[in-house]
Amino acid sequence: MAKKVLVLGEVRDGELRNVSFEAIAAAKEISEGGEIIGLVCGEAVSDVAGEMYKYGADRVLVAEDENLKTYTSDAYTQALMQVIDAESPEGIVFGHTALGKDLSPRIAAKLQSGLVSDITGIENTGGNIVFTRPIYSGKAFEKKIITDGSMFVTIRPNNIEAPERNDSLQGDVTKVDVTIKDLRTIVKEIIRKTTDGVDLSEAKVIVAGGRGVKSTDGFEPLNELAEVLGAAVGASRGACDADYCDYSLQIGQTGKVVTPDLYIACGISGAIQHLAGMSNSKIIVAINKDPEANIFNIADYGIVGDLFDVVPKLTEEFKKV
Ligand code: FAD
Repeated sequence: MAKKVLVLGEVRDGELRNVSFEAIAAAKEISEGGEIIGLVCGEAVSDVAGEMYKYGADRVLVAEDENLKTYTSDAYTQALMQVIDAESPEGIVFGHTALGKDLSPRIAAKLQSGLVSDITGIENTGGNIVFTRPIYSGKAFEKKIITDGSMFVTIRPNNIEAPERNDSLQGDVTKVDVTIKDLRTIVKEIIRKTTDGVDLSEAKVIVAGGRGVKSTDGFEPLNELAEVLGAAVGASRGACDADYCDYSLQIGQTGKVVTPDLYIACGISGAIQHLAGMSNSKIIVAINKDPEANIFNIADYGIVGDLFDVVPKLTEEFKKV
């Protein structure tokens, strides 16, 4: 049955995050030929919101208010609920990002709806729409169907392929009036801890360092490799706990969950809590001087050696490509 599906577009640094387009692909499956509505919240976001047409949105809305410039649970919940009340979508798709993880349960609770979070795949079996999501820290996958209420899901970035961009698809962006009031939280300042460049959760290539890097300076060869590859730099909790890098780089059960095309683990032993955050990467390369290290059990390619020898050599080779 054709359904109207609302997709929340996320803006970062003046651009829509790729997960917003992946969410349109998910919405296409869920809508079964119904209408896909893109929604972007923020301040002066109309131009950027129009991008959603190029990936297949049928209608694009913007909720603009100075209180939506920076994400707060409070303001975004108010805006989303007003749009949902006006549009009554039968499906809702958010990215499973920091924002989506925070906002989706609130909206689901207010709608008294279920929520299937962190999905990595969608399949329309003809009778049912089946959602796949990892459980037990990525050790298993479960399949879910929604039998009642709206189809509300969050999608894990980098798992559902975004529709191909088509620049000839265009449309008008409609401003919706939202009233944001009685805010309990206001963001005064954002202090970025992550390094410049590629966003870890959406990166296609990640170079990650563990306790084996031995110091903050020990990350330098990894930074150089990352620069050549256009990669983001991540870390194990071991490296973060040892104060070699900031916790914003932590990947794993209590850090970020990533699914890049290529994950290069340098001096990381492969503890289960680390694997929980990266084992679904498409290709895993491990560099470790211990041939028995657990990381080799999930690696597609393993290099037994000292990372301080191996990583600079890789950098030199990649520079030639
Ligand atoms: P280590 O286990 O010390 O491994 C270092 C590795 O570097 C070794 O394998 C060693 O052989 C290798 N090495 C050393 N020198 C070199 C060299 N010169 N060249 C090549 N290899 C070298 N961990 C996470 O990562 N993310 C999480 O989110 C997370 N959440 C956790 C949650 C809980 C509740 C708990 C209890 C733990 C969690 N941990 C997490 C910690 C986890 O259990 C491990 O302690 C941690 O992942 C180990 O980090 P590491 O692999 O960098 O260090």
